[in-house]
Amino acid sequence: MSKIRFQALIEASSRKPVEVIEDIKRSVLFGENVFNENTMRQYLTKDAFKGVMSAMEHGTKIDRKIADQVSSSMKEWAMSKGVTHYTHWFQPLTGGTAEKHDAFFETIGNGMAIEKFGGDQLVQQEPDASSFPNGGIRNTFEARGYTAWDPTSPAFIYGTALCIPTIFVAYTGEALDFKTPLLRALTAVDDAATAVCKYFDKNVKKVTASLGWEQEYFLIDKAMANSRPDIILTGRTLLGHSPAKGQQLDDHYFGSIPSRALNYMRDLETECMLLGIPVKTRHNEVAPNQFELAPIYEECNLAVDHNSLLMDVMGKVASRHQLKVLLHEKPFAGVNGSGKHNNWSLSTDTGINLLAPGKTPMSNLQFLTFFINTIKAVYDNEELIRAAVASANNDHRLGANEAPPAIISVFIGEQLTKVLEELEGVTNGKLSPEEKTDLKLNVVGKIPDVLLDNTDRNRTSPFAFTGNKFEFRAVGSFANCANPMTVLNTVVAKQLKDFKVEVDALIESQDLKKDEAIFNVLREYIKATKNVLFEGNGYGDAWEIEAKRRGLSNNKTTPEALKARISKKSIALFEEMNVMSKVETEARYEIEVEEYTKRIQIESRVLGDIAGNHVVPTAVKYQNLLIKNVKGLKEIFGKDFEKYAGEQIKLIKGISEHIEIIHLKVDEMIDARKKANVITDLEEMAAEYCTKVKPFFDEIRYHCDKLELMVDDELWPLTKYREMLFTR
Ligand code: ADP
Ligand code: MG
Repeated sequence: MSKIRFQALIEASSRKPVEVIEDIKRSVLFGENVFNENTMRQYLTKDAFKGVMSAMEHGTKIDRKIADQVSSSMKEWAMSKGVTHYTHWFQPLTGGTAEKHDAFFETIGNGMAIEKFGGDQLVQQEPDASSFPNGGIRNTFEARGYTAWDPTSPAFIYGTALCIPTIFVAYTGEALDFKTPLLRALTAVDDAATAVCKYFDKNVKKVTASLGWEQEYFLIDKAMANSRPDIILTGRTLLGHSPAKGQQLDDHYFGSIPSRALNYMRDLETECMLLGIPVKTRHNEVAPNQFELAPIYEECNLAVDHNSLLMDVMGKVASRHQLKVLLHEKPFAGVNGSGKHNNWSLSTDTGINLLAPGKTPMSNLQFLTFFINTIKAVYDNEELIRAAVASANNDHRLGANEAPPAIISVFIGEQLTKVLEELEGVTNGKLSPEEKTDLKLNVVGKIPDVLLDNTDRNRTSPFAFTGNKFEFRAVGSFANCANPMTVLNTVVAKQLKDFKVEVDALIESQDLKKDEAIFNVLREYIKATKNVLFEGNGYGDAWEIEAKRRGLSNNKTTPEALKARISKKSIALFEEMNVMSKVETEARYEIEVEEYTKRIQIESRVLGDIAGNHVVPTAVKYQNLLIKNVKGLKEIFGKDFEKYAGEQIKLIKGISEHIEIIHLKVDEMIDARKKANVITDLEEMAAEYCTKVKPFFDEIRYHCDKLELMVDDELWPLTKYREMLFTR
């Protein structure tokens, strides 16, 4: 056995539990390290407090004087908690988070120094961020970029640094991060939804999108993870034979949480509490050593920040527990991968969830309006929504009979399907008083009762209505939620905007009452969007055929899927809704395409290395032992030896055959890579990697995994699946 595998096994099996100190009253810890409303009240002057609150709630600008007051109070608060540095905290297009710490400390001459944090430093910074992906934006325009304070997401203390959530934009104004377009999309959906709400309640002034993510992940012993070059470099295993026992007994899901994992979770949750991330739910997931963590939902921008922060915290806490968190969408072949369901809804400043039915027929008509408009938005933009969850990692998961397919459809449940069917029969134009009464009493009025016993749950749908929210299930576990949330909120904003125009036109031109006009437009939407509604098994082959017939897209790979991002329609949509300019949309496309290529390229190199430098030499070593054995048998038994060495000879031959194919395929893969690498067009290069390089992965893996079964376990260099998945 390789030294590193041997050590990993010993280390993993001799771990002592890490002591976890947990406060049973989590509410006491909650937000302790956040410069939240409560803390601001304590530390800020009245003017400064008002200024920040108004910026948070109405997006007003914060003037210089107030910024100075806020920064100095933030510093005072942070220093009282042992903080020495501050940083602008942002989400560049790498998908992770970025920080660059600066000390409060400043010299003032005469060998003296003070602690300083002024309004200037709070509001704007110019990080040397030239190495972040920019999709050509900063080459063609201006090299510099800056970060600017986002007061809607409160500052927090992480480690010994005060973190200020910021946007990151080029000097010419183009977004270079995930947050900027998200904020613009949230404004767009607020404007459009508020306008529609006014049909029902004139008092509504603001609509907020909410997000509740559910984060899935694997926990593996750190020494074991570190013993695998593929996990270290790619986040997943590129080879490894499935263990005799996998998830077939379903004995892990919702089972009792192993104590090492539980200790980790408790520690992680305490950190989350301090950071104001309202985590609430934890449980085992389907695969061995796979778990899930979910918070109470929050305003979308804050929830996205919290998820990004969480992914970082998860890694840090795991390290303390000698564990490694795998956030990759598919770390292990043959066992379920990880996703991140995005639960999404819209609510008003009057306290109404627009995707929950209400108490009166009118509030239910409002619910139906938002419900049906969301379905229409998804239908009209299904390809773009698919593109929003596309990544090299997620390709392993979507459509692999464990996660929703690459086809975007909407599940609404049997009862709501019936409601839509009834609404479809509404008379064209003016409604008779009898029809109105009937609709109000028997259709719209009955929705809350209908939903109460809406128990059907379809886990195979990528976009499902779950009683008071939609659950977007195709998002990958490693993804930054900002991208899917930007797309979803933008398409819904556009749809609501169009809806308003249509309803207003009917009211004017046909002299219809408001509710008549709404019924009329909704009826047409129901007719037009039937193809996107699907209640059956999303994992089945039959659905692929049916979806094709319905004209739904089924873009299985990232290079194919991403194209929808830069279609004429998408570019126009993002421009119209003021979410992204053409330049920004195209830049993002370029970055994503390039990231895809790079990931496949890295995986290909790592696989070639492991196959050539770990697997083959080990197989040769074992083969030599067998040869020696056969020679010895020949010495003893003479020409009869084959009677005794038959199996060994078969093994020797088999090993040679596998080695030969591995060599051949690795060489061919390298050739394919060389060909791909000289392609100058990024899109073509990604397609080449997808169709010409990637197919070698499974072939090479197959033969390596066969060798794993043949070679003496003691010699095998790579920590095995059963060891990683079942060691607790
Ligand atoms: P599950 O989908 O696992 O059965 P639940 O349906 O109870 O679990 O909730 C899942 C997630 O949905 C939680 O993170 C919760 O905060 C979130 N959620 C609940 N209501 C809303 C809402 N109105 N908007 C957004 N997210 C919500
Ligand atoms: Mg869920």
